[in-house]
Amino acid sequence: MKFQAQAAVLREPAGKMTIESVDVGEPMENEVLVEIAACGICHTDMVMRDGHLPIPVPVVLGHEGAGHVVAVGSAVTNVKPGDPVIMSFASCGTCPSCVSHDPAYCHEFFPLNFFAKRSDGSTALSAQGQPVHSHIFGQSAFATHAIAPARNVVKAPADLPLNRLAPLGCGIQTGAGAVLNSLNVQAGSSVLVMGAGAVGMAAIMAARIAGAQSIIALDLSQTRLDLSRELGATHALVSDGRPVSELLRAAGLSGVDYAIDTTGVPALLSQALMALNARGVLGLVAAYPPGVNLSAELAYLMSGGRRIQGIVEGSSDPQDFIPKLIAYHRRGLLPFDRLIEFFPFSAINEAIEAGESGRVIKPVVTMT
Ligand SMILES: [Zn+2]
Ligand SMILES: [Zn+2]
Repeated sequence: MKFQAQAAVLREPAGKMTIESVDVGEPMENEVLVEIAACGICHTDMVMRDGHLPIPVPVVLGHEGAGHVVAVGSAVTNVKPGDPVIMSFASCGTCPSCVSHDPAYCHEFFPLNFFAKRSDGSTALSAQGQPVHSHIFGQSAFATHAIAPARNVVKAPADLPLNRLAPLGCGIQTGAGAVLNSLNVQAGSSVLVMGAGAVGMAAIMAARIAGAQSIIALDLSQTRLDLSRELGATHALVSDGRPVSELLRAAGLSGVDYAIDTTGVPALLSQALMALNARGVLGLVAAYPPGVNLSAELAYLMSGGRRIQGIVEGSSDPQDFIPKLIAYHRRGLLPFDRLIEFFPFSAINEAIEAGESGRVIKPVVTMT
């Protein structure tokens, strides 16, 4: 049996998406069919759209979906039809990282999230009998329906709106997880967050939760910096071309214990490294294009016990971490809804444009 859905199909790299009728196949034994209520737009969708990651076309992107389970495969036990769910990234469940509850570092992360098909090569979607690539981050949620592995879906509370919860599955989890999981930011410490987009703002809110004493936002946009102060930043620095250490000094700060990069700007990375206190860590959170290197003075790194750490999806195990984030949100500690602007699904290209121009921090398209 096939389901009919509307999906935003990307037919050429860097192109616009067109909303088309597609056929959705049945969920396989370990998969679920989700009727999507909303999906956030993440920067990684744009990286995939532009072909910087080798994604095949035609394809349906979208990896911050939330909705209701409509049908489940025969082996699925964690959710049932009718359950509200948030979808997150895909992981295999059996490699050493997955077995030790660290699925963001799944040995199969790249193929499962970016190959845009199942491991058996099949796709969940087709149009006029031709396959349309699916399973981006195990979901492809720019659509009214999506097939996802049951491992990717996290049960959502029934009393909170799904359209608000959708961005938890990637962007919010990534920024908050970088602080609370990957770096395990300590109370009383200093945290520099470079880039006040959705991921950076989530990191700022999480740094406040962690009890950091100095939370420094760095961005080009004064509007975003103003919001960062409302969300927890104690210092808001305009990136005006001066080196990071100089900006920090001008703000009365000598160095930082943690620096989190969400910008992907190599010059900023080198500067942030030089602003680390002894035992400081530079966390790499952005989508770095392949082939970009960072050089560092080895004696400087070694002598202060400084570290550089790669971070995927905030080192989250979504099944545990997303409920924790929802609990913080309920207590008013993680007001990520302030980053969101909603767009109807039919206006997905406008929503993308609003995100890329910087006007909206977290665009979310709503299907229902
Ligand atoms: Zn794995
Ligand atoms: Zn993402």
